[in-house]
Amino acid sequence: MSFLSIQRHLQQYARKKLKVRITDNRSTMLSVKWEADCTKVSLHRMFLTAPQSVMEELACYLRRESKIISPSVKAFIADNLKKYDYSHLLDRRKLHTQGSVYNLQKIYDDINREYFGGKLNLSITWFGSVRQRSRRRITFGLYHDTLQLIKIHRMMDSPAFPAYLVEFVVYHEMVHHVCPAYVDSKGLHRVHSKEFKEREKLFRYYDLAQHWIREHQGYLFD
Ligand SMILES: [Zn+2]
Repeated sequence: MSFLSIQRHLQQYARKKLKVRITDNRSTMLSVKWEADCTKVSLHRMFLTAPQSVMEELACYLRRESKIISPSVKAFIADNLKKYDYSHLLDRRKLHTQGSVYNLQKIYDDINREYFGGKLNLSITWFGSVRQRSRRRITFGLYHDTLQLIKIHRMMDSPAFPAYLVEFVVYHEMVHHVCPAYVDSKGLHRVHSKEFKEREKLFRYYDLAQHWIREHQGYLFD
């Protein structure tokens, strides 16, 4: 479906004036702004291939007949997300895995073998600098799903951080790959699902890591 026909179809189903924008955003697949004169809809380009039933359900949501994004629209997003893999855009020369205390590649490989049967094929790198600007809010780790890249804050490359904690953060980010974020029934972007949390607990030193995190309030990871 072309952009013009998607705008026309949606407008027809929604029976109201829409301003549709197609994006290639890596994190937001669908966003809606209900303004008085016009409803603004941003859709990831995956919607160009959406079946009619998905477009009709999306239109119900745009008409505000249903307050929630229907399960079939969510399922369509989840299915299609898997097809968008931007990892080829990653410049591998910019990945740094050897730190002065920890080697991320080794940690990742060991966890991959132990917990994921060696099946994951993700990249990992340090990011940030050893000396952090503020101690109030620190992000230990991040997972960029479309790049399939784990980033661990370089501040953790220090004997002040026990190995089990660094391993736990790497494990947590790897679980993000197997339990992807989703849009819940209220249309909110949910990152840590029930399934995610159960999977996270399978880490050998989960309790120890949780204890460390409780003792060191202010450290966060996504
Ligand atoms: Zn997380």
